[in-house]
Amino acid sequence: MSISANNPDRASWLHVDKNSDFPIQNIPFGVFLTRDDIVTIGTRIGDTAIDLGALHQLGYFDGIPLTDDIFLQDTLNDFIADGRKTWRLVRNRIADIFDDTDDTLKNNKKNKEIVLFRLDEIEMQLPVQIGDYTDFYASKEHATNVGTMFRGKDNALMPNWLHLPVGYHGRSSSIIPSGIPIHRPQGQTLPAGATVPTFGPSNLVDFELEMAFITTDANDLGEPIPISEAEEYIFGLVLFNDWSARDIQKWEYVPLGPFLGKNFASTISPWIVTLDALEPFRVESPKQHPQPLPYLQLGGKNSYDINLEASIKPQEAKETIVCRSNFRYMYWNMAQQLAHHTVNGCPVNSGDMMGSGTISGPTEDSYGSMLELTWRGEKPLKMKDGSERKFIQDNDTVIMRAFSENDDVRIGFGEVKTKLLPVYEK
Ligand code: MN
Repeated sequence: MSISANNPDRASWLHVDKNSDFPIQNIPFGVFLTRDDIVTIGTRIGDTAIDLGALHQLGYFDGIPLTDDIFLQDTLNDFIADGRKTWRLVRNRIADIFDDTDDTLKNNKKNKEIVLFRLDEIEMQLPVQIGDYTDFYASKEHATNVGTMFRGKDNALMPNWLHLPVGYHGRSSSIIPSGIPIHRPQGQTLPAGATVPTFGPSNLVDFELEMAFITTDANDLGEPIPISEAEEYIFGLVLFNDWSARDIQKWEYVPLGPFLGKNFASTISPWIVTLDALEPFRVESPKQHPQPLPYLQLGGKNSYDINLEASIKPQEAKETIVCRSNFRYMYWNMAQQLAHHTVNGCPVNSGDMMGSGTISGPTEDSYGSMLELTWRGEKPLKMKDGSERKFIQDNDTVIMRAFSENDDVRIGFGEVKTKLLPVYEK
């Protein structure tokens, strides 16, 4: 089935700013609370949010096999479970409804009042109930930088790293949508030179610039997903800030990997941009040496050209961009991650989320964490207001943005934005 929604010649009868992340070719999916306090599944064109539950009730999806309440839910899990064919039919239909050559809804004032919302009339929610969350460690530059800091240049990459996409099982209970503030975590750390730990606030709170993909029901227990089919099971992507407490992480991580230094909060952007919408931005993955084992081999363009940036906004000052990177730098692509994740028969469900790991590029200004940007705090970053940052300070807001762009169209993710509050006090 063709993805007619992606046609770059389409224009919408809804207003779309020239540099909007959300032209009619995007059509992301999210969940929001409306001005009437009703939760619904929706999409967005320009700065207009569209209530898909109401559109469906009004008959605009007639002819597409959908249950009556598919969009009247507080998560996208059931819609995602309907599979890629349904996602395409729905995206194509939405594109037609809002195409400037179609007058049906455009000329129906009453229906428009029911289904269209300004962004300040809605409140974005988590788009999916995330059952399981896995975080990979898939950027070679990031793994090399962190490995160099902890083990020296010659042992930077562990012996397994070039042979498999390293990952760990994270925790979904602390994944939150953009806009919700978090508190500086407390925990055990081992001060420099000490032999016993102390308890207190983390002094090294950091962001991790990541993308994450959301899966559909993919396989049964025991059944691996072949790499050639892996992308069929990826619904879409979100921007992902995987907050990290480096001092807690450093003391606790041996031998089982990340734990409390990672699971106090992770923030996602609220609109899931479909893999279909990103189709025009496919690029080749970085060359892999040594060649991976056959179950991880895949020819063709399996990475995506997505520009990424992270900035820090101090409480009373303008934001400063501290990093510009790109999703295409990832050494292990999403298809390889999903094939590896399921090669032992581990089932993947609708609404599961897989983080890419910090996406660092080759240059010093493309590193995706403060740990790397300031090289463990040795090279502080200058903010626009004259202050310096080694890590994130109380009341700083971290903002990330992502978009793909070619001569025809720009497909973006909007922002993921989180303020770090001081330690929680009752
Ligand atoms: Mn991470």
